[in-house]
Amino acid sequence: MKKQITTTNPYTGEVIDKYDYHTSEEISNILTRSDSTFKIWSQTEISDRTKLLQNLANLLEENKEEYARLMANEMGKPITQGIAEIEKCALLCDFYIANADNFLADQIIKTEANESFISYDPLGTILSIMPWNYPFWQVFRFAVPTLTAGNVGLLKHASNSTGTAITIEKLLLDAGYPKGCFQTLLINHKDLEAVIENDIVKAVTLTGSEKAGKSIASIAGNSLKKTVLELGGNNACVILDDADLDKYLDTMVSARMQNNGQSCIAAKRFIVTQKIYDTFLEQFTQKIKALKYGDPLNQETYMSVMAREDLAEELEKQVSQSLQKGAKLHFGNNREKAKYQPTIITNVTPGMPVFDEETFGPVAAVVKAKDYKEAMQLATNSRFGLGTMIFTNNIDNIYDHISQIPDGALFINEMVKSDPRLPFGGTKASGYGRELSKEGILEFVNTKTVYIN
Ligand code: NDP
Repeated sequence: MKKQITTTNPYTGEVIDKYDYHTSEEISNILTRSDSTFKIWSQTEISDRTKLLQNLANLLEENKEEYARLMANEMGKPITQGIAEIEKCALLCDFYIANADNFLADQIIKTEANESFISYDPLGTILSIMPWNYPFWQVFRFAVPTLTAGNVGLLKHASNSTGTAITIEKLLLDAGYPKGCFQTLLINHKDLEAVIENDIVKAVTLTGSEKAGKSIASIAGNSLKKTVLELGGNNACVILDDADLDKYLDTMVSARMQNNGQSCIAAKRFIVTQKIYDTFLEQFTQKIKALKYGDPLNQETYMSVMAREDLAEELEKQVSQSLQKGAKLHFGNNREKAKYQPTIITNVTPGMPVFDEETFGPVAAVVKAKDYKEAMQLATNSRFGLGTMIFTNNIDNIYDHISQIPDGALFINEMVKSDPRLPFGGTKASGYGRELSKEGILEFVNTKTVYIN
């Protein structure tokens, strides 16, 4: 019997579909097609590639409700948030339509030579391994710059987003990309080793857990292939005494709860200085209690199920171990299968799982800090380094401390978020490399020195 991937709707528990895994012969054909397509695609003009990006943006806009429904069914994303995700993918296309030419142009460097410059050549087939939490955005964030730079792409999507993977492949074909430019591999992650080791694959990018990152980096490292890793995060949201709660409380709530709390850049640890602590906790709790839970297909729904029951079980374990270590349950913590009630935990200190580990779901860990200095010590006390957010009215004070935040991003009076115009990525256990912006499109190119005398 052929091995299959089964996708299940986490809200209804119903099976959505079953897909046959690709056989080794099919995988080999996909790789060969990828290689032969690269030879033609890499020679096309950048302006031809950006024309296809315009088609892609148009198709995303036309089909956004359908794609948002697909995500709601496969991983429980509330429909309005799904539509926003698709719109953001279209904005990403717009950004590279406007800027790719400039980013990829030769850079003249004056030396003693008659002519010397840097050229940016595509590498070939780039393999992406992507997660289910932003199943369109994460794939587009990889594919749009990477293909526009003249590479071709392969996608091994999370198993529970297989319908999305197939839909994205079709979407690129419909936009006019040559067959072979972007292909989905329906394989188990255990079969990735052979694909990574194949000579056709030149580099690998993964968005996912630290465990998957370590495995991919070691396999790719063994073949001396470049990796970009976008792994977990444990972002601190620092709320200082002079923070404007009236203005920013909704942002703080979204920073933790949007996408049912399943975001690598979510605010996971709320570090609050003591004078504002009680007011913050009271107002934050009111907002959390008012979040509307329901069917992800309902327009009114803000919170719904987590993507899989095992992820909710893992979160419950992190919370109960933290409670055993002295944390206090302030609100929530009821679980029924993949449904996890928004939860607030107080009296959190280092050494507890909700402080030390990534909590990938709707749990806010609240930590009281004596003053600014202690708040910053707690914020940077993390193995992860994706981003930090600070809410304060004293911006001048922050400038002096920017270099003390060892993360990939620092956001003041705003939640950490990705933006096509700005580089995105982490430090420490959050991985390395950058996506988006000019940095992102230059991750998978050969930065070549040309010297003509
Ligand atoms: P995984 O990291 O397991 O899954 C992400 C992707 O990696 C999927 O395509 C998965 O494939 C693949 N994968 C899984 N294990 C390996 C491996 N050993 N080698 C290569 N590829 C692998 O995430 P989970 O879905 O299990 O979530 C677990 C935790 O990971 C979360 O609780 C969260 O902490 C973190 N995570 C972080 C994300 C981020 O945005 N940085 C996104 C998703 C998860 P398959 O589905 O076939 O297993």
